[in-house]
Amino acid sequence: MEISKDHPRYRSLMTREKLSELSKEGILAPTGLIAHGRGEAFDYLLGERTVPAANEAAKVAAAHLLEARRPIITVNGNAAGLCAKGLISLANAIPARLEVNIFHRTPGRIERLCNYLEELGGRDILGREQDALLKGIESDRARCSSEGIGSADVVLIPLEDGDRASALAAAGKVVLAIDLNPLSRTAIAADVAVVDEITRAVPNIERHVYDLKGQPQDRRFLIDSFSNENNLSLIKRTMCKSLFQKS
Ligand code: ATP
Ligand code: MG
Repeated sequence: MEISKDHPRYRSLMTREKLSELSKEGILAPTGLIAHGRGEAFDYLLGERTVPAANEAAKVAAAHLLEARRPIITVNGNAAGLCAKGLISLANAIPARLEVNIFHRTPGRIERLCNYLEELGGRDILGREQDALLKGIESDRARCSSEGIGSADVVLIPLEDGDRASALAAAGKVVLAIDLNPLSRTAIAADVAVVDEITRAVPNIERHVYDLKGQPQDRRFLIDSFSNENNLSLIKRTMCKSLFQKS
């Protein structure tokens, strides 16, 4: 479809086209398109920008990723479709490994997603071999890599479903989420929920990773003084304000 560059929502329309294409190629699950729509709606309420509370959460997420012994970034269809290069770049900056872990799981889709990341420069992508199980969720979705999520102490889970976020938290891992919905179970279960659009959040976390390298005291201070509950309240207040603003 031809989309005119001066359409006021050009970027959003192009993103939808891209995701729709990736869904035809089997990278994105069809229901991933619905999840994207929910995200877009919440992004309106943020004014489609990184609000100060989200920037604070991004900084704390960066601090956790640098403090981790075994940091892992999980990648599903939506995250890959929207931000594969950004996630690869963030993984290199920390450094952390990427693990393909998807809700609608078939061996074919896992392979396609791993190949997609590798074609874009990702290295040592985990997920093809899922030899560990997370407790507390239905067996198929519990599967993960023992080298990755299974033994990670800190996991960054962009656009993840609530059950798995809770299972990761229950397994004692530090859970960092990227999710535009401050009411989602994922955002609530996380230790740090970055309520921001993934294509803004990921490079922002990467920027903080570079700023916080070699600053262990700052990192620990950021981690110790952060409350996810308070941060989510700030986000919700920002969203409410935007609803009542005169236009
Ligand atoms: P729960 O966490 O309670 O299971 P959910 O049903 O909203 O909630 P999913 O549908 O599993 O969760 O995941 C999709 C989530 O990803 C939504 O909360 C949505 O707001 C968020 N999301 C979608 N697109 C983006 C995006 N581009 N950037 C950041 N978050 C997004
Ligand atoms: Mg969710």
